[in-house]
Amino acid sequence: MIQEYDLIVIGSGPAGEKAAVKAAYFDYNVALLEKNDFFGGAGIQTGTLPSKTLKETALYLSGVYNKGIFSMDKEFGRHAGIQDFMYRKNLVTHEGGNSVKQNLIDHKVTIYKGCAEFINEHEILVKTEDKEEVVHGKNIVIATGSYPVHPSNIPFDQKRVHDSDSILTIDRFPKSLCVLGAGVVGCEYATIFAAMGIPTYIINNSDKILGFLDTEIAQALVMRMQKNGIQILFNNSVDRLHAPSGEEDPLTIELKNGEVLKCDMFLFAAGRNGNTKQLKCKNAGILMNERETINVNAKFQTNVSHIYAVGDVVGFPALASTSMDQGRIAIAHMFNTKDLEHLATVFPYGIYTVPEVSMVGMTEEYATKNVVDYGVGYSNYKDTIRGKILGDTDNGFLKLIFEKQSKVIVGVHIIGVLATEIIHYGMSLVKERMTLENVIATVFNFPSLHDLYKYASYDALSSLKGKRVRGKEERIGLSSQIISQ
Ligand SMILES: Cc1cc2nc3c(=O)[nH]c(=O)nc-3n(C[C@H](O)[C@H](O)[C@H](O)COP(=O)(O)OP(=O)(O)OC[C@H]3O[C@@H](n4cnc5c(N)ncnc54)[C@H](O)[C@@H]3O)c2cc1C
Repeated sequence: MIQEYDLIVIGSGPAGEKAAVKAAYFDYNVALLEKNDFFGGAGIQTGTLPSKTLKETALYLSGVYNKGIFSMDKEFGRHAGIQDFMYRKNLVTHEGGNSVKQNLIDHKVTIYKGCAEFINEHEILVKTEDKEEVVHGKNIVIATGSYPVHPSNIPFDQKRVHDSDSILTIDRFPKSLCVLGAGVVGCEYATIFAAMGIPTYIINNSDKILGFLDTEIAQALVMRMQKNGIQILFNNSVDRLHAPSGEEDPLTIELKNGEVLKCDMFLFAAGRNGNTKQLKCKNAGILMNERETINVNAKFQTNVSHIYAVGDVVGFPALASTSMDQGRIAIAHMFNTKDLEHLATVFPYGIYTVPEVSMVGMTEEYATKNVVDYGVGYSNYKDTIRGKILGDTDNGFLKLIFEKQSKVIVGVHIIGVLATEIIHYGMSLVKERMTLENVIATVFNFPSLHDLYKYASYDALSSLKGKRVRGKEERIGLSSQIISQ
């Protein structure tokens, strides 16, 4: 007999977990299908959580933020082995996966282990190695995520030539690392390995890293990455990669500009596609988009009205943060729960590099292009007491963008320690259209990094009067460093 459910969710990543649990909370009969042995998808197992844990581990083991700040350098990190490096990542992903499973169990979601494929628009075949089962869903949510693409000129071997999944399984540190792609994943891993003292290169096919960032912040990150020993090869790419069989011999990377780079390990971080190959969406009549993603409307409904798709499988912005809400919004629409109508239009971007970067709202380039009469205000970590206590080896700063006439804050950009945390106050400012005066009338804990907002607001107000206290170089540490973009 075919089991029938009010809802079938395919995939246990952030999007699928939240969709399944929300529907179950509202007393619907829910099944979740997961093909992997471990729960949580890229969010928990191979993407967000492991990379963030490795970043914290690298900071801890290398002591990069403690050097010369607390009198004693913590040099022992340089001798840490790969097991030390991976220890916490393994623990946290294991616990994270178990928490997802437990959450599903606690909400009485029925779990099927196996790979899902559509038979028709209501029936799904769940396949394991030794068993096949058909389940019927009145409604279906596809939350199958994305996978790293493998271009044919890159000989992936999961030993020395990696994608962002297999880099998590290395059993020795690279002697040197070359990363292809200066998007979020590429920049994060480059800074993690560089923090561990590993000579690191990034190859990028344009003259800007992280194209969506405010250009000044992207340049500031480039300078800090270069200072931390990362060489960035702009406007370049890989033609061919030769991996010799002997592990002692370096990889030979032939670049588009004719140069050759020798390196011990390679990480491809230049693109992900929607995980739809195994689903056989055609059998359900679901319309696809480019890069194997699924076409959806603002409620995450596909062209087949009872089938929804959420998370990475629908493409941009492809974040764990937004994927979870997409799952919840789909359920709200499906079962008319009336508690979450649409995805927030104002949300932050967090880049967990060393140093961290985070932004919300308009960039200066966007403001210029859209003819906003804007001004900017800056503040430096080193000018705040909390920044002085922390040592601020990154020369961090915050940049506010505001509408000149109304003094409403329309963009916040931060580079420095805890940028991804303190951005959330900035998000409220942008979302609630708060003014510079609103910020200076606010009392923060003292000392706290939130002083950055106050100082940047004072700087912005001063700029309106034509009396800025600090020059650009002093403000953001642009002096005497190289940038090639
Ligand atoms: C290195 C890296 C770092 C990242 N860092 C961040 C970050 O800092 N912040 C952030 O917000 N986002 C980050 N992301 C993005 C984030 O991981 C994804 O946006 C998020 O995981 C997408 O969630 P999802 O539920 O759509 O898909 P996934 O998390 O990929 O989950 C999909 C699940 O579906 C299962 N599945 C697939 N096909 C089938 C099938 N046919 N049958 C059954 N099951 C199937 C998979 O096994 C998987 O468990 C990062 C990604 C990477 C790669």
